Amino acid sequence: MTMIDGLFIDGVWQAGHGAVLEVTNPATATPIARVSGGDAAAIDAAARAAKRAFPAWKRTPAHQRGEILRAIARAVEEDRERLVALQMQCNGKPRFEAELDVGDVIATFDYYAECCETGTGLSTNPVALPDAAFAASVRFEPVGPVGLIVPWNFPMVTSAWKLAPALAAGCTVVLKPSELTPLAEIELVRLAERAGLPAGVLNLVCGAGAEVGAALVAHPAIAKLSFTGSNRVGQAVMAAAAERVARVSLELGGKSALIVLDDADLEQAVSLALGGAFFNAGQMCSATSRILVAHAVYPEFVERFREAAAALHLGALGEEGVEMGPLISRAQQRRVLGYIEQGLVDGGLLLCDGRAAAEGEGFFVGPTVFTDLPAGSALWREEIFGPVACVRSFGDDAEAVAIANDSDFGLVATLVGGDAARNKHLAAELEVGLVWINSPQVIFPHTAWGGFKQSGIGRELGPWGLRAFQEVKHVVAGVAN
Ligand code: NAD
Repeated sequence: MTMIDGLFIDGVWQAGHGAVLEVTNPATATPIARVSGGDAAAIDAAARAAKRAFPAWKRTPAHQRGEILRAIARAVEEDRERLVALQMQCNGKPRFEAELDVGDVIATFDYYAECCETGTGLSTNPVALPDAAFAASVRFEPVGPVGLIVPWNFPMVTSAWKLAPALAAGCTVVLKPSELTPLAEIELVRLAERAGLPAGVLNLVCGAGAEVGAALVAHPAIAKLSFTGSNRVGQAVMAAAAERVARVSLELGGKSALIVLDDADLEQAVSLALGGAFFNAGQMCSATSRILVAHAVYPEFVERFREAAAALHLGALGEEGVEMGPLISRAQQRRVLGYIEQGLVDGGLLLCDGRAAAEGEGFFVGPTVFTDLPAGSALWREEIFGPVACVRSFGDDAEAVAIANDSDFGLVATLVGGDAARNKHLAAELEVGLVWINSPQVIFPHTAWGGFKQSGIGRELGPWGLRAFQEVKHVVAGVAN
């Protein structure tokens, strides 16, 4: 198997001298590629390149930066079929999920291209002052070279959510993909290179998190870290960044609730619950893995949900009708199976058991549904990052909100109910960054993404995503009489 260069520094593809990354097809457990990873020296070279490229990129007119972002969107679009196939191969995603990912990448680059073209979030604005002797304006300037660190569950998407606004804002970048899925970012960077990004504006260093990621966080040339991943690593990133007061944005875990009210359309509720718990095999920070159901409809919902979960068709690599793929790795599979065992120890009732799917070669775990778990159970409180849903009933709306908010996390929530005013009231009570009402987990580049509490700090997407890569500068001038 040929070794793929895992470093793109100052416009040059090169081999790294760090750990070699083995990329595996999770549906078959077969190796598909080897990527040469970087080390601290590679991060140093990449960060220096980003620092050298920063002044020119910052001064490049926004509309020219926008033209390049548009060109990246078009390049991704032209290569759509190959990128879909790559996502299916590296993540085991069913075709419809891989297609959604690539569509999201295109929409994100197009959105920030438009911000550049219209000056949205990039222009200097006057600020009215109460004293006519002074005139003020506010400027939004790029924060500097930034480090972007991403996980494996939506590799191309999480990278696009950071890359497009960072480049639009005028920042230069060092991107560090997950060691499990580096090929998606390698392809994305190749397309960005061809779209005309000047050398040094976007640098890529694949490699192990503890070495390469940590070196990026510590590098003095990197003004800001934007991190998506686990809480454990996010906390380490924040602590290390604090040493030099580097800015951080964190998109971390979740343990989100889907609330089925007594006036919900149960067919819709079951469909939304399936998507919320089992899309990407549950490997979503926004998985609604806690399902709260009103007493009045609980028995019927549980039976219909169990039936629908058990009927989901597992598989990968473009087989017809596949609805759910494998987990990303053997380690992740073992972790999820461990949670299922723990649920039984905790006294949970296992209504749908996904363990049999783990007996084959690939890293599968089938859809799993528990009821009757105590609120203190790890399954109810911790992010599992696998296809395990826990269902519980509630009495009134206040109880639903109290249970939903009783979590260290606060990323998203889904509400299913028939009364618009009631839904709106409940949405206001939930301690989360995004509420879907009678809606699947649609994400537009225009909407904010991020969480309350331990789900993170800051927001991605929309104008908020741009702000994350900007400093605010006020200019106050005395006005001559
Ligand atoms: P992870 O935290 O293990 O790794 C994330 C990234 O950090 C990887 O690129 C990894 O190499 C790197 N890393 C590891 N150690 C590091 C260190 N010491 N310093 C700097 N970087 C380091 O997470 P994962 O297992 O890849 O992804 C799963 C997690 O990501 C889940 O907890 C999930 O909730 C979270 N996630 C959150 C969102 C969101 O938007 N909130 C989206 C996707 C995933």
